[in-house]
Order: sequence, then structure tokens, then C-alpha cells
Amino acid sequence: THGKYDKDKGVNVQVLVRCRPLSEDEMRLHTPVVISCNEGRREVSAVQSIANKQIDRTFAFDKVFGPNSQQKELYEQAVSPIVYEVLEGYNCTIFAYGQTGTGKTYTMEGGARKKNGEFPSDAGVIPRAVKQIFDILEAQNAEYNMKVTFLELYNEEISDLLAPEETTKFIDDKSRKPIALMEDGKGGVFVRGLEEEIVCTANEIYKILEKGSAKRRTAETLLNKQSSRSHSIFSITIHIKESTPEGEEMIKCGKLNLVDLAGSENISRSGARESRAREAGEINKSLLTLGRVINALVEHSGHVPYRDSKLTRLLRDSLGGKTKTCIIATISPSIHCLEETLSTLDYAHRAK
Ligand code: ADP
Ligand code: MG
Repeated sequence: THGKYDKDKGVNVQVLVRCRPLSEDEMRLHTPVVISCNEGRREVSAVQSIANKQIDRTFAFDKVFGPNSQQKELYEQAVSPIVYEVLEGYNCTIFAYGQTGTGKTYTMEGGARKKNGEFPSDAGVIPRAVKQIFDILEAQNAEYNMKVTFLELYNEEISDLLAPEETTKFIDDKSRKPIALMEDGKGGVFVRGLEEEIVCTANEIYKILEKGSAKRRTAETLLNKQSSRSHSIFSITIHIKESTPEGEEMIKCGKLNLVDLAGSENISRSGARESRAREAGEINKSLLTLGRVINALVEHSGHVPYRDSKLTRLLRDSLGGKTKTCIIATISPSIHCLEETLSTLDYAHRAK
């Protein structure tokens, strides 16, 4: 059935690149910049020449956001059109993909809400999407219901970032309570025991986002930078009541998944110990499978290996078919990240 939709609609995968600015530390150390972004031509170039070693590569994408790009600009150009699709009943997914420290979480979540509840100028994709969805629905005077889930996938195990405190303890790997991923018998999956919060205002979603990401950060400190090895998925499901011109009632359902992927760096290369090998393998499994799934969809090749990883099983109803996907590949401009940057650009380019 997925193939049929592909022919009708074409596969809709948009790939864009965002390069972060040098950090203050990097500037102080006069870190050489090896990446240049041409937003007009939608190209990213990596140039380095040391003695006899020459790198000079240019990649084209659907959109390119340079180091001076603002959160608002990226949102309006890349994400806002997708939110309209969600409200039309599409399942859409936005991925942040890239090496740890290149701005995935900054892009997805951005700065914290201000004390007075105001929207900060560095708010990321998630709060902006939430605000836009509410604004549109309110303006349409629509009858709707909205629920959100927020989960983390670590070492091919799911944990619920919205679970009440007592049921999840982030002390070590063993005490984490994995949640089962079940087949629903209709080709879809559901996550057993996952908290679904019904939300009625944008403020409620902010609180949920803050609660979940605080939990993720706590886990990060306790579990040795775990969040760089985990994927987080924030999903918003919206049911909108509509009536046809004949007066019949219809429910339109759309879903938006906002995915902050695990760091794409090659963990073995960065010197991970043996005991971490399994873990590293599992992460690569989800990231590699995601790449393969997207390639299969883009190339219309028959078999789409959704079943090969939890991430792709979880997102199956939002990848392929009547869906839209946007991959935001985040990179650093620094010479020290060049090798990882090239592999990020390669991965992202293959998804086009
Ligand atoms: P990741 O989630 O990919 O590991 P982060 O989002 O945590 O990376 O970003 C690393 C650091 O760089 C953070 O301090 C973040 O605020 C900063 N940063 C990332 N992208 C940008 C950007 N586009 N503009 C300004 N600061 C950024
Ligand atoms: Mg992060």
C-alpha cells in the first residue's frame, strides 16, 4: 500500500543543512573555519588544504541555513509549511541529524521559556510548531483534540519521558523501565503503557516539553552523556472535526513527529570502550536503518526495511505513503569536525 501512495503523491523528503556558528571558545582559540554556506545556491562547501592533503567538496540541498540563520527564519522557511500539511491530515516527521554539539537540540527545542512565560527569540522548532498549530486552530474556530507523547529510544529500548516520577528511575541502565513496542495487527505499532497527555493550550505543551527534556538532561548527567546516544521523539496528534458541505461529520487526523536523533559520530572512532560496543552498534542500527528506509522510499525500491530498528518501526506510519519528511542535518564549521561533517553531508545527501 505504501508503494501505491508513492506513485500518486511522490515521496516527500526534504533535506536541509544548518551550520552553527563558532562557539565563544572556538573563537577565542581562533579555530579555523572550513565550511562555507551559500544560501542562495543552496550549497554547502567544505574546503581544506594542508600541505599535500586537499579537500574541496560541494553539496547541494533543498535548503541551506548558514551560521547567522535565526530560529525564526529556519522555522518559517522549513517547518511552517509542514505544519499546514499536518492540519490537512498528513503524518509528518522532522528529524535533526548530526554530530553531537552541532545544534540538534538547539534547533528542535532552543532556549527555555522566559520566567514571565514569554516566547524567547531563540525558541526552537517544537515550541514554534505548537504555537502555530494552536494559532491556526483557534483562528479557524475548529473543534479539535490534541495529545502529545514524548519518548526516548536508548540502546533500542523505549522509555517514556512523560511517565510520572515514581515509575521511572534514571539511576543506571538496569533500573530503567523499558516500554514494549507492540504490533497492532494492522501494519502499525503502538507503544504499550506510554503516557498520552491531552493538551488544550500551548502553555500546557511547554510544560510537558520542559518536564520531558529536564528528565532527559538528568539522565544525561547520571548516565554519562547518555542523551548524545539516545533519540527523542516528541509527537503531536491532532483530531479535527469537520463537516462536509452535505453536513456530514468527518474527523481529520494528522500527526507531527519531532525527532532529535542520537549523535551521528562514529563512536568506535572516538575511542569508546569495548563494553560500549553493543550500545554503539545499536545506535548505529537505528541511524543506519533510518538512512536505508529513507533511501528505499526516495528510490522507490520495493523493500523498505522498517522492521530492522525500533526507530523506524515507531515512525512507520509517518514514513512513506501519505507523509512528509524533513531532515535537518546540523554541522559545525570547525576544522576539527571536518571528518564528521563530511559524513553528515554524505548521509544527508543520500537521503535526497
Ligand atoms: P546537539 O544537540 O547536536 O548535541 P546542541 O543543540 O546541544 O547540540 O548545541 C551545542 C551548543 O551549541 C549549545 O550550547 C547550543 O546553544 C549551541 N548552538 C548550536 N546551534 C546553534 C546556533 N545555530 N546558533 C547559536 N548557538 C548554537
Ligand atoms: Mg542534543
